[in-house]
Amino acid sequence: MKQGQNIASAHRLNQRLVLRTILMRRGIARQNLAQITGLTPATITNITARLITGKWIAEEGQISHPGAVGRRSIGLGIASGTHYVAAVHLQRRVVSVGLAELDGSLVATAVDDLEAEPDPRRTVDQVQRLLAAIIDQVQPPHLLGVGVGASGIVDYDTATIQIAPSYGWANVALGEWLAEAMKVPVVLDNNARGMALAEHLLGSHRDARWLVFLYVGRGMAAGIWADGRIYRGIHGFAGEVGHTTVVPEGDLCWCKNRGCLEIYLSEDTLRRNCGASEQTSVTEVFRNASTAVRRELVHQMATALINVNHNHNPEVIVLGGWVDKVWPMLRDPVMEEVAKRTAYWPRPLRVVSSSFGENIGLIGAAAIGLGQLVYGVGKDDGEPLPSW
Ligand SMILES: [Zn+2]
Repeated sequence: MKQGQNIASAHRLNQRLVLRTILMRRGIARQNLAQITGLTPATITNITARLITGKWIAEEGQISHPGAVGRRSIGLGIASGTHYVAAVHLQRRVVSVGLAELDGSLVATAVDDLEAEPDPRRTVDQVQRLLAAIIDQVQPPHLLGVGVGASGIVDYDTATIQIAPSYGWANVALGEWLAEAMKVPVVLDNNARGMALAEHLLGSHRDARWLVFLYVGRGMAAGIWADGRIYRGIHGFAGEVGHTTVVPEGDLCWCKNRGCLEIYLSEDTLRRNCGASEQTSVTEVFRNASTAVRRELVHQMATALINVNHNHNPEVIVLGGWVDKVWPMLRDPVMEEVAKRTAYWPRPLRVVSSSFGENIGLIGAAAIGLGQLVYGVGKDDGEPLPSW
C-alpha cells in the first residue's frame, strides 16, 4: 500500500471521503461533514461545491437543529439520474445484469440463462448484449464502469477469475475482456465480498465496523468487511468458509478436502436429500423436508455461524442465498443451538437477513463497481474520479 500522498491524490481521497460520508449520512449538513471528516469548513465548502456542479451530490432542503432556535442548515444527499454503474452477477447457469444509481438503487435489470460450462469469450459477448439492451433503455448520461460479482476464487487486482467450478473456468481475464468490450473500467470480485460491501455501503449496516456476509446457496462463501476494508487474505481465498472441515474423514468435496461444510449445507444437498426437482421453490422444498433433514441442516447452520463468529468476531452476520429465503423457519431452532454452544461467550451473535433480499447479488455487483470507482473502498490507490 502506498502511504505517501501528493497534493493531487490527497485531493482525490478527500473528495471520495466527502462523497462516502454523504452516502453514509444522507441529509448531512456541511458543518457536520467537517466534524466527521476532520477537513476544514473551507475545504468542505470547496469540495461540496464541485460535487454539486458535477451532479454527484445535491442539496436536499433545510434541516433544523434541535435545541438551537432559528438555526437551520442545508442537508446534502447523493444525486440521482446522472452517474450510473452497470452490475453483472454471474451464477451457475444464470447471469443477471442491472444499472444502478450512486446509492445502489437498480433502475433496470435483465436476466439470461448461462450454459453449464460456458465459453468465457462467448459469456463476455452475452453480457455485453444484455448490458447494451438496458443501457439503450435507460440512456444513462454517464456510465462510470461495470462491477462484476462472480463465484470462485477471484484475483481482485487483475480482475481475473482464478478458479470457478460453477462455470468450469480457470485463469479467465474476465475484467480485461469485458473492459475492452464495454470501453469502461470493470471491477471484478467474488460475489460474497460484493454482498458484504453492499450491506456496509448501501444497506442497513452502515455503522458496522466488522460485518460478515454469509452466503449459503449452490455454493457457500463469506464476505468480510473488517474495519474499513474488505478482507481478502494474501491469495484471495479468505472467506472460503464452505471449505472448512466439519466432518473429519467425511465425504470428498470437489475441492479435494473431506467433510467440507458446503457438502452438508448447500442448496444442492437440500434438494438431493429431499428428492426435489429444480422446478420446486427452495422454500417449498424446505417446508416439506423430513424432520431428519431439517435437524441436520439446523445443526450444520449453527456450526457455520459459530465458526464464523469465532474466526471473525463480527458485529453482525448477514445472510444470503437459500438459507436467507427460509430464515424465518430456520431462525429459532438454529439460534437456540447457537445459544447453547456459545454460552461461554460474553455477547450473543447477531444474525440477520440481507437488506436486499433477492436483489443482493446484483446490488453486491454494483457495490463492487461503486466501491472502487466512486467511494474509494476498493484498491488502496483507486483510479481518479471521472471528470467533474
Ligand atoms: Zn471443499
